[in-house]
Amino acid sequence: MKLDLSRFLSSDEEKLEFEGELALNDTNLDIDDLRIIFPVKYKGSIYDLNGELVLELDISYDFIANCDRCLKEFKNHRETSYKAYNFKDPSFYDEDSVDEYFEIKNDSIDLSEIIISQVITSIPGKNLCSEDCKGLCPHCGKNLNDGDCGCWDVEEEVKVEEKVDPRFEKLLDLFKDEEV
Ligand SMILES: [Zn+2]
Ligand SMILES: [Zn+2]
Repeated sequence: MKLDLSRFLSSDEEKLEFEGELALNDTNLDIDDLRIIFPVKYKGSIYDLNGELVLELDISYDFIANCDRCLKEFKNHRETSYKAYNFKDPSFYDEDSVDEYFEIKNDSIDLSEIIISQVITSIPGKNLCSEDCKGLCPHCGKNLNDGDCGCWDVEEEVKVEEKVDPRFEKLLDLFKDEEV
């Protein structure tokens, strides 16, 4: 997705607003592992301050994650914003600055490249299905969000410790794979 700026750049307008949806990843960036649910939504503006351009973008997207406590797969939502500059005068570019710069090629901006890069850097590494997720019982593997399993009954504790539910072993394997 390219944003064509030719009309804006040749006009006296100070601000260009735009919004839309990225229906798929049309960049060379590999995001197959991120389980993004397209479309990725974006809304942005470009300010022209005497030829020095400022780009601001708000990006929002959904993705599939596994809860770090109970391993359940769930849909997560993320919003992120981006601000970058494009200067007519090259002496404005400061290598030590934390500012981001964006390129204009053939009077257009490669929006997909910016949006997908932003998705990659903003996606959280840790995810919880809910703030108070109770996780899995370390003894029997039951998802404690679905109710108490009874393993912590003091009188039963010794007996129960020896049992490991085979379903739980499977889940642990799955979890290991996710970590790699
Ligand atoms: Zn959870
Ligand atoms: Zn249990």
